[in-house]
Amino acid sequence: MLDTTCCPECGALAEVQWRTVMDGTDGPVEHAKILCAARHWFLLPVEALVVPQPSSVEPARVRR
Ligand SMILES: [Zn+2]
Repeated sequence: MLDTTCCPECGALAEVQWRTVMDGTDGPVEHAKILCAARHWFLLPVEALVVPQPSSVEPARVRR
């Protein structure tokens, strides 16, 4: 599960505080409340969250 993301306002690391399911036009959509280091907060669909890319993780090798 995703516990951190990037703030859409300032790009800082943001924490996922809680998740909820809200009814959308195409059915229930899971939303997450995020709070960034600069105290911005947003309630966003989880699919809109940006996964932070830790620099310590080696990218997977992809064969073409
Ligand atoms: Zn922010």
